[in-house]
Formats: sequence, C-alpha cells, structure tokens
Amino acid sequence: MKIKIADLEFEPLISEKLIVERTKAIGQQLNADYQNSIPVFVGVLNGSFLFIADLIKQIEGPCEIAFTKLASYYGGTTSKLKIRDDIDLIMDIKDRDVVIIEDIVDTGNTLHYLIDKLKQRNPSSIAVCSLLLKPAALLSPIEELKYVGFEIENEFVVGYGLDYQEMGRNLRDIYKKV
Ligand code: 5GP
Repeated sequence: MKIKIADLEFEPLISEKLIVERTKAIGQQLNADYQNSIPVFVGVLNGSFLFIADLIKQIEGPCEIAFTKLASYYGGTTSKLKIRDDIDLIMDIKDRDVVIIEDIVDTGNTLHYLIDKLKQRNPSSIAVCSLLLKPAALLSPIEELKYVGFEIENEFVVGYGLDYQEMGRNLRDIYKKV
C-alpha cells in the first residue's frame, strides 16, 4: 500500500518480517566474530536508532554501546558532501574493537568521515554494520564495511528509523520513493 509523507509518495520495499530475520542473522555473525572480545558498538544517530536497538538485543556476550550523531541529508532526499557533526563520541575507544552501526550507506562520505575520525583514537579494530547499502551510489570502497543487511537500488527510502523531513521514522517497514 502506498503512503504519503509531506509532498512525496512511497511504496513498500522491505517488510518488518524480513528486517527481523536479517537482523537475527547479522547478530549471530557478530556473536561468532566477537566471541573473544568485548566490542564497543557505536550507533550513528538518528537514522539507525531502531536498528541499533534490535541488533543489540541479538548480542549474547558482554558489549558496550555508545552514540554519535552525524547528518548528511538534513531534511532532503540527496546526500550532502558536507557532513554535520552534531554529537561527538565520548567513550574512550583506545585498544577496543569498535563496530559502527549505520542505517544506510549511500555515497559513503559519512562513513569515511567517521572512520577517519575514530581511527585517530587508536582502536584495535573498526568494522561497520549497515542495515542498508546502495552499491551504485558508493563513491569509493569501504574496507571496514563487513556486515550489510540489504543491498538496495539507488533510491530514496524511509521507515524503520529513516526519515523524510524528520517524518516516517516510526514506520515498521521500509518504503521507497515512488
Ligand atoms: P552518505 O554519506 O553515505 O552519502 O549518506 C549516509 C547518510 O545519509 C545516512 O546515514 C542517512 O542519514 C542518509 N541517507 C542516505 N540515503 C538515504 C535514504 O535513502 N533515505 C534516508 N532517509 N536517508 C538516507
């Protein structure tokens, strides 16, 4: 069923059921990969808040959770080259295994910016887990991107944390712009 948010129409793309299944599978991968470590999960707000919450519940071993807030779309439907750094990561990540949790990777500019910034704080390792990836939009490869929920076309999506003009974050499914 189509929905309208502000001036745009959207249609269903990924159901809540599929998101739940994929999140469980990624959680199992993370449990296996970090069984000998106490990883720090770094959630990138705002878009990933639901994914962070659901993914973290799948983690069985000890772990820590911290947040940072970056913005590259601020309200529109295209990525901006300039990243807005709204809230810095406060936790000390020196010698820690860091897993960045993102909602979506589009051009990759936001992640390159964040990875470069966190590397300067000397963690033992950095990996990235993103619910969505738009391979056709990615400007340069991101070696650290090890966990991806779904690869999608180069289209604008909302729902499950992702917004259009700050709306639509509460939707249980993911929708694409018609
Ligand atoms: P990048 O820097 O990779 O171009 O963009 C990443 C950020 O842009 C994401 O964290 C997200 O906030 C926003 N973004 C990218 N694609 C979409 C999209 O299709 N829908 C929404 N709502 N935000 C997006």
